Amino acid sequence: MKIMVAIKRVIDYAVKIRVKTDKSGVETSNVKMSMNPFCEIALEEAIRIKDSGRAAEVVAVSIGPAQSVDTLRTGLAMGADRAIHVEAPAAAPLYPLSVAKILRALVEIEKPGLLLLGKQAIDDDCNQTGQMVAGLLQWPQGTFASKVILDQEKQVVTVDREVDGGIETLSLDLPAVITTDLRLNQPRYATLPNIMKAKSKPIKKITPQELNVEIECDMEIVQVTEPPKRKAGVILSSVDELVDKLKNEARVL
Ligand code: AMP
Repeated sequence: MKIMVAIKRVIDYAVKIRVKTDKSGVETSNVKMSMNPFCEIALEEAIRIKDSGRAAEVVAVSIGPAQSVDTLRTGLAMGADRAIHVEAPAAAPLYPLSVAKILRALVEIEKPGLLLLGKQAIDDDCNQTGQMVAGLLQWPQGTFASKVILDQEKQVVTVDREVDGGIETLSLDLPAVITTDLRLNQPRYATLPNIMKAKSKPIKKITPQELNVEIECDMEIVQVTEPPKRKAGVILSSVDELVDKLKNEARVL
């Protein structure tokens, strides 16, 4: 069985985000970019499934500008066997429905038994792509996975999902879509020998047009602004003072 993993290149989680002076978006030039952390978890899970002998191949996919190849190389160094780069210009905004349509087209070509995605991308925080691609493919979906057990014989995957009330366990028939949550695993670091090996692993290039997908943009970003600065807090000397402030300053009592 083949596993396909969607990995997105995003601003590194440790970078302090700066809004562009013209308020059209956030600054991405000269900013450290990395693999979206939830995608690292998805890829790690796929590699673990392959290492346990329950999958034959892990294919990493990224949609975005030319630099997405760096993210794919990281994925190949972690242990993916090959990669597909769907080149989409940086200038064209890429929203979850377009990504989901591209992933569906690739699934129809590659025919994986599992499609793994992160539960959300930390740049847009949409948390939509996995659900949309499952809908488009009419595949069962297990989102926010914190445990994944694949039974190849029965062609079933059991997924523990992190939901508001606790953990929900689902049994999904394959092929299926899974989106990964934080507690599923601890992704590995790519070792130097594997980084070297990754240089010779294949990355196929394809365009959205070749997949018959038109990148549509049904949203317009009017303005991006920083959140308002929080005022410094004060330390109060007594509960009476707190009650007084809540009553007379904040007027919430
Ligand atoms: P989102 O719905 O934007 O929060 O993204 C959820 C997940 O969809 C990500 O963690 C990725 O697995 C996948 N995804 C979204 N955008 C892309 C992209 N441009 N390339 C590859 N995967 C993506």
